[in-house]
Amino acid sequence: MRSYFKAVVRPNFNCLMNMIPGKKPLGEYFRVFKDSLLPNKQIFANIVIIMTTKCTLRCENCNNLMPYYLSPYHIPSEQLISDIRAFLDNIDTCVKLSLLGGEPFIYPELTTVIDAVIDHPAVMYLSLTTNGTVIPDEEVMKRLRHRKIVLHISDYGVSTQKIPQLIEILKSQNIRYTHKKDTDWVVPGGTKYRGKSKEQLKIEYNNCYSSRYCGTMLNGKMYLCARGAHLTDLGFMDAPHDWFDIRKKRTAKEFQQQFKEFYLSDYAEACNYCDHGLKISVKAGVQTDKILEPDG
Ligand code: SF4
Repeated sequence: MRSYFKAVVRPNFNCLMNMIPGKKPLGEYFRVFKDSLLPNKQIFANIVIIMTTKCTLRCENCNNLMPYYLSPYHIPSEQLISDIRAFLDNIDTCVKLSLLGGEPFIYPELTTVIDAVIDHPAVMYLSLTTNGTVIPDEEVMKRLRHRKIVLHISDYGVSTQKIPQLIEILKSQNIRYTHKKDTDWVVPGGTKYRGKSKEQLKIEYNNCYSSRYCGTMLNGKMYLCARGAHLTDLGFMDAPHDWFDIRKKRTAKEFQQQFKEFYLSDYAEACNYCDHGLKISVKAGVQTDKILEPDG
C-alpha cells in the first residue's frame, strides 16, 4: 500500500491550492485538513469522470487514447449520474470532481450532469477541462458561473482552437478559468504490453502524477489512472487489479474500506502499457487524421 500522506493528504492540499489563483476561504483549508486527518473520513483530491470518448481533436500522443476509438460514444446521463452519486454518497469530500471527455463541451447532456452533481455536499469544486475548440452555448455558460466551477483550458496551439474568443466570453461573464499552454507532453507510447517487473511498476506508478490525481471513473468502474481506464475500455488490457466496481452492492462501510484499499494500491498494471516512466518529451497536441491501431 502507498503512504496515506503521499497518496491522499498532500494531493488534497495541492489540489485545493491549485484550483484557482488567489485566496480561498479558510473554511476550505480547515475542511481538507480535518477530512484528511480524521481516520474515519473519506477524502480524495481529484476524481475524473469520463462523460464521452468523442473529441474534436485527434492528438497523436493522447494519454487517454482518444484516436484509437473506432466508434467513440457518449455515456447516457442517467447512468453517469447514478454512478457519480454512488461514489459521492459514500465519501465525505472530493476536493475536485473533474468532468472530462473527449471534449466535454460536445457532450449533449452536460447541463443535466452539472445540475445533478454540483450541489452534492461531498463536492468542493467541479472542474471541466476543454481543448478550447468549442464555444459552449448560453445554458452551459450559465452553469459555468457557479461559484464551485472552474474551467481549465488546455492550449496546444492547434489551428482549430478558439481560445482568445473563448477567454473573452469567460471574462465578460465572470467565469473562473485557467489557461495552460502545453508545449510538451511526455510520450505515453503505444498500447503493447511492456513486461515490466512488479518492482518497476511500483516505481513508475508512485512517481507518476496520475497516481495522485487521476482516479478515473468510466462506465461504472473507478480506475487507478485514466490511461488504464481507456486501455480497458478499448479492450487492450484486462486487469481487475486496476479497477473498482462502483455498481457492486455493498454496505457503506464495506465500500469505504474496499475503496480506500483500492485507491492506496502501490502499483497499476496500466504502467505495463505506458512509457511515461521514460520521460521522453514530444510536442504537445500534434494531430493525426488516422484511427490509431493497437501495436501489441
Ligand atoms: S499508466 Fe502508469 S505511468 Fe502511465 S500515466 Fe498511468 S499511472 Fe502514469
